[in-house]
Amino acid sequence: MTIEHIAIRPGDADYDEARTTLTSTAEPTVVLRPMTPEDVAASLRHAATEGLPLAIRSGGHNALGFGNIDGGVVLDLSRLDQVEVLDAGRVRIGAGATWGPAAAALAEHGLAITSGDTVSVGVGGLTQAGGIGWLVRKHGLTIDNLLAAEVVTAAGDVVRASDTENADLFWALRGGAGNFGVVTAFEFQAQPVSAVQFGTITFALDDVAQLVKGWVAAMRDAPDELTTTLVLMPGFGDFPAGAILYVCLDAEDTAALEPLRAIGTVVAEDVSERPYTDVLEEAHPPEGVLPVIGNTLVESVDEPLIDAIATAYAAGGRVVFLRSLGGAFGRVDPAATAFAHRNAEALVVSAAFLSPDSTEDQIAAARSVWRTIGDHGLGSYAGFLGSDTADDIAALWPGETWERLRQVKRAWDPENTFRRNFNVTP
Ligand SMILES: Cc1cc2nc3c(=O)[nH]c(=O)nc-3n(C[C@H](O)[C@H](O)[C@H](O)COP(=O)(O)OP(=O)(O)OC[C@H]3O[C@@H](n4cnc5c(N)ncnc54)[C@H](O)[C@@H]3O)c2cc1C
Repeated sequence: MTIEHIAIRPGDADYDEARTTLTSTAEPTVVLRPMTPEDVAASLRHAATEGLPLAIRSGGHNALGFGNIDGGVVLDLSRLDQVEVLDAGRVRIGAGATWGPAAAALAEHGLAITSGDTVSVGVGGLTQAGGIGWLVRKHGLTIDNLLAAEVVTAAGDVVRASDTENADLFWALRGGAGNFGVVTAFEFQAQPVSAVQFGTITFALDDVAQLVKGWVAAMRDAPDELTTTLVLMPGFGDFPAGAILYVCLDAEDTAALEPLRAIGTVVAEDVSERPYTDVLEEAHPPEGVLPVIGNTLVESVDEPLIDAIATAYAAGGRVVFLRSLGGAFGRVDPAATAFAHRNAEALVVSAAFLSPDSTEDQIAAARSVWRTIGDHGLGSYAGFLGSDTADDIAALWPGETWERLRQVKRAWDPENTFRRNFNVTP
């Protein structure tokens, strides 16, 4: 089978658009946009025959530009974006769909899948990282709602993975960050969700430590229906410093919000009932800055961690996000999927924004400030990882999970065809 009908090469009208993602611009030899699993298999054969390295792209939002490549083949799955409602809330979604259109298609049936917070993030990449969304405490990670996947393997076979078919592969796809084959479609159990209470509560930022303490205490008592993210914002240009609490409550009774309003001095609030589709936002990548991003899953937001957050925030130029976990996320057996850090009560993400011409020393200094927070964690989340040193990869998967992932890799991709990712070496 030829790949010419799906190929975009330098000089073609679409090439500039095809070589650009939210996070990267590259000079691929060819961008292939398959329309069927058979096209995907032909694309893999083409890359192998030509001896070209490969990048797999769904939404292209990986922070390190893994969905793009210089001098190689980009397999861009954006045409595999169909959303199909099956029966009893089961839905099949093409890996190249993005979460905004997927949510809109599901909303027509009164359904939703907990995914991320952003319209343009790809279903393929987010799902294989895990998927931390606005309903994570009620419905778990995106992978906790995954029933099966259709995969084109390194050998070019089209297989199905589920609890009962190729179960080792299915386990690894859920948290293994895209190492084991090209997923062409996912089958999820969607949930009946229509409107949610969503919005922000803004607090005066006079005492960071007190606010974080109040937030974590309130979230420990919160019902699973409530998921929140506390964002500590430094002053940027015209924007003053402040603490913004994003809340998503999948319940009509808003009483669960009361304890949160009491954690500090509220200066503004815009929480209201909205369709679930409205809670997904457009991406706003910061321009003209070099972001240095770190994240860690923490078992307990305790005093030493809170002190570290307050000190790092006070150093300036850094946004700190605290995303609540627990609830359904924490009730999944750590060995059931390749996402093992199930005892985390929060994900802490920090982004320092440096000048693009920063020196290595300045970047290293920003990373070392991050380490004062990051060292309190259990490990990292692949979705928000901004670097891929050996230490970064070790932080993604604890020892037993790593060994099991390597076994699956040896079975399904022994030549490491799929290596432009947080790589599990065979
Ligand atoms: C603005 C923004 C907001 C975000 N918000 C959230 C959030 O709320 N929650 C959350 O959990 N994450 C979030 N993320 C992180 C996001 O989940 C990861 O960046 C994810 O990898 C993006 O998926 P993608 O398909 O867009 O990326 P891509 O860059 O296309 O892919 C990411 C990785 O997965 C591999 N891959 C992609 N598709 C496939 C496939 N079908 N088969 C095999 N391998 C594949 C790629 O090769 C690459 O290594 C956000 C990221 C951004 C930039």
